[in-house]
Amino acid sequence: MEPHLQMLQLLKQNYPDAHYYLRFSNPLELLIATMLAPQTRDVAVNKVTEQLFLKYKTAEDYSQADPEELLGYLSAINYAAKKVQYIQTTCRFLIQKCQGQVPDTMEALTELPGVGRKTANSILINAFNKVVGISVDVHVIRLSQRMGWTKQQNPEKIEKDLMSLFSQQEWKTLSWLLKAHGQKICKAKPDCLHCFMNQICPKHEL
Ligand code: SF4
Repeated sequence: MEPHLQMLQLLKQNYPDAHYYLRFSNPLELLIATMLAPQTRDVAVNKVTEQLFLKYKTAEDYSQADPEELLGYLSAINYAAKKVQYIQTTCRFLIQKCQGQVPDTMEALTELPGVGRKTANSILINAFNKVVGISVDVHVIRLSQRMGWTKQQNPEKIEKDLMSLFSQQEWKTLSWLLKAHGQKICKAKPDCLHCFMNQICPKHEL
């Protein structure tokens, strides 16, 4: 078996419960959660959205909200004031161009202000179960470079490399598995000594 497939198999064996990490119950909630997530821990995002989603339910609710009131829900979120601006701008765009609904195509999603392929892939995969690419976050970037799956730095080029390495049926869970490993073992400072992949990973530091 080729090394990248061996590594994928090991990831699946070691993280059988890997799953998407932000809580949501509809595409708009997921869009809002992904906009709150940068530089903030998932657990903090999930905690604030529990209350936020009870109060604000539609793109109109967010666009018409008093920014100060919205901010009041986001005390645990880093760069909250900036994120409130993004959320309101994006929700106004949704109302003007998409009848207030989150679109379900890559083309339409990446037209939304502040939404790139990473977020669009997350929404398509997790809210619409449409797998057209791989969501490339910081964990996917760091780990796929260390594991020798790509030499690229640019997330879109990394995504292309991964899409050609792995079959489409793996794309949905790949970023979940890499995030799980990135949070537990292959952190910014990797714990290669205790890593189950250290015999095949090209970047192991023993
Ligand atoms: S061997 Fe080291 S660099 Fe490779 S995946 Fe494991 S922790 Fe990361």
